[in-house]
Amino acid sequence: MLEDYFKEIGQKSYKATQVFEWLYQKNIYDFNLFSNIKQDIIIKMQEDFTNDFISIEKVLEDTDVKKFLFRLNDGEHIEAVLMEHNYGLSLCISSQVGCNMSCKFCESGRFKKKRNLETFEMVEQILLVKDYIEKRIDSVVIMGIGEPFDNYDNVINFIKIINDDKALAIGSRHITVSTCGLVPKIKEFSMLPWQVNLALSLHGATNEVRDKIMPINKVYNLDILIPTIKEYIEKTNRRVTIEYVMLNMVNDREKDAYDLVNLLKNMNIYVNLIPYNETSHLEFKKSSKNRINKFYQILKENNINVTVRREFGGNIKAACGQLRSESDFK
Ligand code: SAH
Repeated sequence: MLEDYFKEIGQKSYKATQVFEWLYQKNIYDFNLFSNIKQDIIIKMQEDFTNDFISIEKVLEDTDVKKFLFRLNDGEHIEAVLMEHNYGLSLCISSQVGCNMSCKFCESGRFKKKRNLETFEMVEQILLVKDYIEKRIDSVVIMGIGEPFDNYDNVINFIKIINDDKALAIGSRHITVSTCGLVPKIKEFSMLPWQVNLALSLHGATNEVRDKIMPINKVYNLDILIPTIKEYIEKTNRRVTIEYVMLNMVNDREKDAYDLVNLLKNMNIYVNLIPYNETSHLEFKKSSKNRINKFYQILKENNINVTVRREFGGNIKAACGQLRSESDFK
């Protein structure tokens, strides 16, 4: 990509490597300081690229989580959440301003998509957080505001950049893309020759339940989604994460657990049960610990790999889209 640019302007493609080193390894963003690049090329780059960066507007901190609100150049806001796991630091980034998927329980879905994020706006979320904490980020999940597969090309370019050894060198197995189930894009994604993880936001084990909470199910229902996931697993030989947010009396009954077992049996998946982060704007309630435990046990007894996600940042509104929606820019 950047190599093509240098070729087009009549330069050697290794210049791309030098630029990557400045930006991603030395964290220097002012082109004038790129001492191994000639002045006339710098002027050309200044004409062709913006280095008008996004900025951190607010940081909320709790013991093992930090939440960043960013301001984009057009005044829009997005957010990223940094979580400290025992296996390292993981950053959850946004892929769009708003989201068009309108999942009923999701704060981001209350606001329609305003626009896609550019590749650089996704990369900068990582660079700014890295600068702020002065530590390496070990893994990246694309699970913040937006539907990554509704911004497919920019997201794929973003992954290529952060995965590049000359840029951030985040290993592909440490990168996860989460989708609500855009079937054609899952198929496209399965063709890529890499080890990036796929997570599917399932949240319902029958069309009846899923239809109620996720409008995307009216477009790609379980009868097409599940075979697509099976094909993905076969093609890539990779295990898929199934996200299942636990909503009281909506999808957390014993029957739902047995439906889920039936839907997923014999698939190379693991289920991550997500305690729902309640928001003041939406009527959904979180499942009690007892109900989550019961659900977990049923899956376990029926040989489904399952974990319950640790709760992060309830105090600082870490659920998807909550910080942006509380800021004065709606
Ligand atoms: N659009 C993508 C990625 C962004 S949402 C997707 O749907 O996967 C990331 C995850 O957070 C999804 O599983 C989403 O359903 C879940 N989520 C949204 N709001 C939540 C909340 N209030 N509490 C817990 N999980 C939530």
